[in-house]
Amino acid sequence: MTYVTRFAPSPTGPLHIGHAYSALTAFRRARAEGGSFLLRIEDIDRARSRDEYEQQIFEDLHWLGLDWPQPVMRQSDRMPAYRAALDRLIDMGLCYPCNCTRGDIRAALSAPQEGTPIEGPDGIIYPGTCRGRSMADAGPTDAIRLDMTRATAHLDALPAFRETGPLFGGVHPLVANDLIVQIGDVILARKDMGTSYHLSVVVDDAEQGITEVVRGADLFSATWIHVLLQALLGLPILQYYHHGLVRDDTGKRLAKRDDARSIRAYRDDGLSPDQVIEMAGLPVTPSAT
Ligand code: GLU
Repeated sequence: MTYVTRFAPSPTGPLHIGHAYSALTAFRRARAEGGSFLLRIEDIDRARSRDEYEQQIFEDLHWLGLDWPQPVMRQSDRMPAYRAALDRLIDMGLCYPCNCTRGDIRAALSAPQEGTPIEGPDGIIYPGTCRGRSMADAGPTDAIRLDMTRATAHLDALPAFRETGPLFGGVHPLVANDLIVQIGDVILARKDMGTSYHLSVVVDDAEQGITEVVRGADLFSATWIHVLLQALLGLPILQYYHHGLVRDDTGKRLAKRDDARSIRAYRDDGLSPDQVIEMAGLPVTPSAT
């Protein structure tokens, strides 16, 4: 099977060194495997996405020496595909509507018997307040959640995924109890978007024929959700390469640092692409990776 990977930034701000690292790692892996590197614009968050950031993504990546086939997939064009996938999961009886606010969730978890709330990939694990609700009474103020207990029980066997990265290399079988306790009933469709990061990324990776997802280690537990959704929707189970995060001297994640500078700012300062690649901690010649 021909290797296909992608870089999937959200145009909600400028690209930083961490994005450069991720994009270059994916691009170089595609080159080394004789495969393809695709770009996808993840703009489902219409309130935060900006055309000028999208334009800047293209410019910054070209400046770093990357190229990709046209046309570029844009998630805002793909809403019917996400709706179809959501409807399949609803028809399988795995979803319920939820109108809890963050405040409701915190209040439900503040009862003394609840102990310290557990954080999952999307924040505090949902306590299940709306789990008894039926999809028949879903309304416009509801998000749609995946019932993780029903979802894991739905499959005869849970899938495993292969990880080829430097941190978690090996085969990772999904474990129902881990998904229920450490991930919980994730949102599949936000009321303001009609979809979610998790659902759209799974649908699009399959549509684009991605064979390996290259991305940061911060998304490792989100991968469990994505692999579960792949299995539930009958899509190919992908291979993953999670890379380490670019950190500063104090160990703080560079892209999250308050003064993290954008690639654009380094360009404007007159740095060369190789200097930025070096700052990201990558060899300037791809053959040395
Ligand atoms: N749009 C996501 C981000 O920018 C992509 C993550 C992924 O590669 O799946 O974090």
